[in-house]
Amino acid sequence: MTNGRALAKTYLEQQRLLGGDAVILPTSEPTPETPGLRPGSVNPKPEDLPPPGLSFDPPSGDLFAADPVQQTRTLADVATLVAQCTKCKLCEARTNTVPGEGPTDARLVVVGEGPGRTEDETGRPFVGKAGELLTKILGAIDFPREQVFICNVVKCRPPENRLPQYDEIAACVPYLYRQIDLLQPAVILAMGGTAAQTLLNTKQSLGALRNQVHRFRGIPVIVTYHPAALLRNPNWKRPTWDDVRIARRILDS
Ligand code: SF4
Repeated sequence: MTNGRALAKTYLEQQRLLGGDAVILPTSEPTPETPGLRPGSVNPKPEDLPPPGLSFDPPSGDLFAADPVQQTRTLADVATLVAQCTKCKLCEARTNTVPGEGPTDARLVVVGEGPGRTEDETGRPFVGKAGELLTKILGAIDFPREQVFICNVVKCRPPENRLPQYDEIAACVPYLYRQIDLLQPAVILAMGGTAAQTLLNTKQSLGALRNQVHRFRGIPVIVTYHPAALLRNPNWKRPTWDDVRIARRILDS
């Protein structure tokens, strides 16, 4: 198989994993330049991107203030504070805090809602079935999970996997803000309504927030479904594929 055809086969397999439609390869040889045939080769142009959406720009903290979150200089410092945190009632039943993980120079940050049972047991974000699906989604845009910083809005597991409550999010979100400040990624992928609404300070539904390029402190934010929701509703895989390709286009531009 030639290089171009092998790339096309990989691409179509990734589309199939994400629920894309079946496609028959033409007999003529695709060229590597053909738009969309290579993951990551989508000829990014500003006019290809969806319209601008919301912009949320909460004030950055004062480094000289007494707030220890603002005084952290590294992601490890943030994780240390999280490990000792008792700022909300989610600390009471946690086994482990789940601050997030990934390289300090990650260009893509994935933000989910909160740890589930396996995450609470392991202290790692997005493990288990939803995590496996996230790894596939990232692979489909040619982004190995190891190159992505993955975290959640709240760092301790809500009981019975319920939604985090307003006071819990308010107590925990400074850690997320600080992580983003330290990382300065090129794109943030907000997975699920809680992540999207928190990062954009809005009550708009996930459906209304999709297919726009929002901004958090100037950093592009793309909104899509949470992998756990995709496991319950495979029909959302196709729109998720569309969303992550937008993130890829921004990363390529
Ligand atoms: S959820 Fe966040 S604010 Fe609440 S105890 Fe855990 S780390 Fe602290």
